[in-house]
Amino acid sequence: MSGPLQPSIPSLSMVNQSLDLEIEKRSQQLLQDDLDRVHRQTDKLMCVLMICQWLFGILAALWISPRTWSGDQSTISLNVTLAVFFGGAMSAFPILLARLRPGHVITRHVMGISQMLWSALLIHLTGGRIETHFHIFGSLAFLAFYRDWRVLVSATAVVAADHILRGIYFPQSVFGVDATSHWRWLEHVGWVLFEDVVLIRFCLKGLEEMKLIADRQVRVDVAKDVTEHEVERRTVELKEAVLASQEASKAKSEFLANMSHEIRTPMNGVIGMTELLLSTDLDPEQRDFARTIENSAESLLSIINDVLDFSKVESGKMDLEVIDFDLRDLIEQIGTICAHSAHAKGLEFVLAIPVRLPSLKGDPLRIQQILTNLVGNAIKFTKRGEIVLRVDVRSLTDHSADIRIGITDTGIGIPTSRLSAIFESFTQADGSTTRHFGGSGLGLAISKRLVELMGGTIDVESQVGKGSHFWIDLELPFGDSVKENVASQVPSGCRVLVVDDNPTNRKLLLTVLREWECEVVIAGNGDDALEQVEGRGASGFDLILTDYLMPGMDGIRLVAELKNRWGNKLPPVALLSSAADIRARNDWKEVGIASCLSKPVRQSHLLRVICQAMGRTPLQEKVPDAKDPFGESLGLSVLVAEDNLVNQQVAEAMIERFGCTVRTVSDGEGAIYASQSQDFDVILMDMHMPGTDGIQATRSIRLLEQETGKHVRIVAMTASAHEADRQACIVAGMDDFLSKPIKPSELAIVLGQSRKVELIAPAIDSN
Ligand code: ADP
Repeated sequence: MSGPLQPSIPSLSMVNQSLDLEIEKRSQQLLQDDLDRVHRQTDKLMCVLMICQWLFGILAALWISPRTWSGDQSTISLNVTLAVFFGGAMSAFPILLARLRPGHVITRHVMGISQMLWSALLIHLTGGRIETHFHIFGSLAFLAFYRDWRVLVSATAVVAADHILRGIYFPQSVFGVDATSHWRWLEHVGWVLFEDVVLIRFCLKGLEEMKLIADRQVRVDVAKDVTEHEVERRTVELKEAVLASQEASKAKSEFLANMSHEIRTPMNGVIGMTELLLSTDLDPEQRDFARTIENSAESLLSIINDVLDFSKVESGKMDLEVIDFDLRDLIEQIGTICAHSAHAKGLEFVLAIPVRLPSLKGDPLRIQQILTNLVGNAIKFTKRGEIVLRVDVRSLTDHSADIRIGITDTGIGIPTSRLSAIFESFTQADGSTTRHFGGSGLGLAISKRLVELMGGTIDVESQVGKGSHFWIDLELPFGDSVKENVASQVPSGCRVLVVDDNPTNRKLLLTVLREWECEVVIAGNGDDALEQVEGRGASGFDLILTDYLMPGMDGIRLVAELKNRWGNKLPPVALLSSAADIRARNDWKEVGIASCLSKPVRQSHLLRVICQAMGRTPLQEKVPDAKDPFGESLGLSVLVAEDNLVNQQVAEAMIERFGCTVRTVSDGEGAIYASQSQDFDVILMDMHMPGTDGIQATRSIRLLEQETGKHVRIVAMTASAHEADRQACIVAGMDDFLSKPIKPSELAIVLGQSRKVELIAPAIDSN
């Protein structure tokens, strides 16, 4: 029984066979073409020969016996007439044929016969001279150029017939004597046949060579054709593959964006509810549990953001902002954010920022993302020692600054062989690091792409067991805002004793304080500090800056000891400490410490302490807003359009905590009706809802508002990561957007802005 029909795939031998046939066919064709070319060329050659012979025949006739004499009467010799007319007739016909039928078999045979007749004529004209017989041999050699042995046969037949006939009837004309043997022609024809044998061999050999050349040429052509065809096929395949990979990459980005949307929506519930839970009365254990939930959710969100950022950069959809920003502020903020985890591991975290830094332009959020990742890695891969985040201005031009930001740690280091690989996506220096330290292997890949997008470079040096040094170089244009020159406001000549066991910290404080024209004395531990104060007396200093955690005598004990010895004469003391360390001690104020600076120390905080010590008003300092986000009662009426039940609950609960009244609808249609039946201060509109979505609902509301002249503030709530979606919100007429998961602090800003609108609205109305 025959199996199912299979598409027949030709075997290799079948393919080779058909290829051979094709080659055979093509080489025969090529041989024919070549022969035709040879025949035509030889036709031309013979034509030239014919004309030359004709002219030569006439000249010979005129020279040898131009006239015939009978007494004193002479007439033109018959020979001249023969040369002119016979020669003309013998040349004209083959020349005509060569014009009309070039390369044709008849033409070459006529050519051969005519040429032999020419030999006969010339032999006759020279009176049968034996030398002229060589014209036959020469002519046959010319005819052999046709590479057609048959032409030689017809030509030889003419020679034989001529010799026989003229030998019998007119021997004088062919052999130069009147009487001769009847078999004399045989001797002549015998020599001709001998030459024929040689020439026929030449023709056959030439033909064979032509065949060989044609065959070779065809094989080369076929090989070229096959290669070209293969190249063409591969090119098509490649194009298809590129197209497919572009499609796949697009699909991947789409998938990631959708997945991010799908994950962010429930995450909004988790994080939102946890925030609400944390703002209620919880016992310490419950608070701890809730914080753990919050931290886990935040780190899950950060992985999602990483994956999404990566796909955005990969697909070229990452847009960078160019705005004025304060690099010092940015670095100090990172210091504040990261110090907590560094100190929790017992690591020293030092910021080294030059005192003078110009205001710059760039994308602060992305720079922060890169640095947070690098510092996060440094903390993650360091067990003991220190992390230094250093900024250097490498050079300045008229309009930009070349900035290097470096992160140095004393951690596990990276093997040299892995240094370049770690910047690739999903790559870790050692595969087992994930188990020890966690991580997706995406952070550095994203950082590298972002730095490159900013036109900068990122690099690393590392030694296993000693630590790593990552740095980024960025050329950033100067910002438009003119910065206050902090250094000019420092009271000069402040005498400061710096007590710190960490040499990096000491060096850093020394550099900054010297820049501010302070007189600095350094002590590496408590005993050293006691000696210094003993030596110069308490009045020898205006300020003592001491680290809290030092081996041997800690900062608080040192101050207690100094107070013991010098009492009220002791200058003000500022304690440098991590927030967590000092929280455990509540006796620092009792010992007489004036202020406590959390590490890494902000330059503005240090400045404030110096100003206070010198009795000068401190500079305006930016105090981080530590207000409870739910602290203020806003009293707004808010409409929430959201289809997800949990997210409805989160939004409602948060908004109520701000002292606002809230009404909830679950689709766009509901939002349109609600906005017509009641005046709201703000509408929080989810983008993706069944039926009428947020965009359509906003368009309808804006259309209806054209009649009333009102303008309700509409803020999109979106878990979408697409920039295009955000743009669509604005185009549809929304005023702002809130990213999901919604944070109380961000909601506070949006609601706060809605209140402002309310205050302005009457003024606009009254116009
Ligand atoms: P991950 O999320 O795994 O940390 P990254 O892209 O940020 O991903 O880092 C890639 C790998 O580079 C890390 O897994 C680690 O092996 C190595 N690495 C990065 N920074 C450091 C560092 N400061 N010290 C040692 N190894 C590092």
